[in-house]
This record gives sequence, C-alpha cells and structure tokens, in this order.
Amino acid sequence: MSILVVGSVAFDSIKTPFGEVSEVLGGSATYFSTASSYFSEVKLVAVVGEDFPDEHVETLKGHGIDVSALQKVPGRTFRWKGYYEYDLNQAHTLETELNVFSDFSPVIPDGHCDSPFLFLANIDPDLQMKVLEQVRSPRLVACDTMNLWIENKPDALRKLLGKVEICVINEGEARELAGEASLVKAAKKIMDLGPRTLIVKRGEYGAVMFSSSFIFSAPAYPLEEIFDPTGAGDSFAGGFMGYLANTGDLSDENLRRAIIFGSVMASFNVEAFSLKRLGSLKQEEIRSRYMEFKQLTHFGDI
Ligand code: AMP
Repeated sequence: MSILVVGSVAFDSIKTPFGEVSEVLGGSATYFSTASSYFSEVKLVAVVGEDFPDEHVETLKGHGIDVSALQKVPGRTFRWKGYYEYDLNQAHTLETELNVFSDFSPVIPDGHCDSPFLFLANIDPDLQMKVLEQVRSPRLVACDTMNLWIENKPDALRKLLGKVEICVINEGEARELAGEASLVKAAKKIMDLGPRTLIVKRGEYGAVMFSSSFIFSAPAYPLEEIFDPTGAGDSFAGGFMGYLANTGDLSDENLRRAIIFGSVMASFNVEAFSLKRLGSLKQEEIRSRYMEFKQLTHFGDI
C-alpha cells in the first residue's frame, strides 16, 4: 500500500562534534520518504525553489519515490541551520528560512488523493491540515511536529491533532506540548487531544509507544559511532509507517514490529550526514539489524 507524505525538502547546514556540512540535502519529508521507500511505495508532496538541483530530484527518484507532487517554484528552497553539542539528543536551531514554504498551498494531484497511508511530517500545521483535507478516507493518518509550531501555532496544531490517529513526537516536545513533566501524564494529555496512539522519540534512549491499552518501549540500537542525528526522527517515522504500509496490518503486535523497523532506520541514518548511509542500504542490512534488536531486548520468562 502506498504512503503520501508532506513535509520539508531542505538544504541543511549542520555542525556536530564530529564534522560540519553546508547546504546538504535534508528536510523532514526527504528523510521520511527515503526511509519508507525501502518498504513501500511513497508519494512526496513538497515545494522547492529554483536553486534545488535536478541531481537531488534524481536521488529521490532513484529510491522509487514518486516526485510528481514535488513542485519547483520561483524563490529559494527551505533552509535549516543547526548544531549539536555532545548531547546529540538536543538539536539547537540557528536559523530556519521557510522561503518557498511561506506561500506554499499544496494541491494534491487526483491520483494521490486515495493514498491509504498519510504521513504529515514536520512542517507548518496549517499545511499539514491542507493536505489532510484533500486525502479521501485514508486508512491511517500520522503526524510529527516540533517546538517551533508548538510555540507559534498552538491552535492550528491542536486542531490537527484532533484529526490524526498517531502522533510521533520528541520527548522534550511531548512535555512542552502537554505542559507536563511526567511523560506518562503528558502522553495521556496529548492522546486526549485526538491521537489514539502516541509515539515518543527519545533519541539515544529509544522510543516509547503509548495507547489506551498498552505501553511499549524499544531501545535505540547501541551504536559506537553516531555522526549526525539530523533526520533520525523522520527516518524513524519512515521505517515505522513504511512497515505498516508494506504489511497493511494495524494490529498492536504489528505496531510493535513497526517501532523496531523505525528504530532500525533511525540507527542507520545517524551513522552519516544527509542521506549518505540511509540512502544506500541493502534489504539484508535492514533485516539483520532488526534481528539484532530482537536479541537486544529478549529475556526469558520466570
Ligand atoms: P529530525 O528528524 O527532527 O532530526 O528532523 C531534521 C530535519 O527537519 C532537517 O533535515 C530539517 O531540514 C528539518 N526541519 C527543521 N526545522 C524544520 C521546520 N520548522 N519545518 C520543517 N522542517 C524542519
């Protein structure tokens, strides 16, 4: 089954304790669609400016991503500049240039409106809503967001949360959105806004999934070298949604497997800048890391 994703396609300039890059291909929808392309068909909805090279479009197409709804318009592509200190769980934003996203009004081509899986990757919640309104009865709608929108567009975000089944969010942002220090209480408050499942990403500590009937916790893969955490959250969401779309199974048991596939994709992504590692994976590597996760969390009954 196919996934429709809306989010940012960007030029990222990033500094980590291990290196620095300028204007590399990034963006929430870029990471999401690349990760999910290993599992299912993906259709990308986004906008870029005239400065966006064809070479990047070819990279996306090379992963089988449908870019027919990736618009190129006059102006500059979205840019994000940030850095990380030794605590790689905390991204520090230096600059966000919305550029062509400021006037973007997504129009979903007719052939894309029946996509059964919809992922509203991190972007202005008004744009996420505009896409959601155009998709006809999707089977599963999930979204991500960030502190910028929690602080600047709280009403639009709350309206959106009322219409999604799954929300995938960072730990700090979950606390900020709910105004709660306890993660369990924060999860309940966010689920009261609409989503029946909340997935909290905890960087190097893994991810926790909350629903009304269970809590599931997954570790992160114990990597020795983490190079750049940018896009880890989006790659996580891509692996998670990709696996669900691939199997078409939305049972609790399968959601747990999907969380592990999300963690697998995030772990590959942080091994290098941009799409260097995430964009060149083999199916056997994905499968074998999934099995390593199984081993990592296996313990016997007593
Ligand atoms: P994450 O998975 O949270 O590390 O997301 C990193 C990606 O989000 C980067 O590639 C950025 O280009 C993108 N990004 C950062 N800020 C924003 C924003 N305000 N809206 C949309 N995308 C953003």
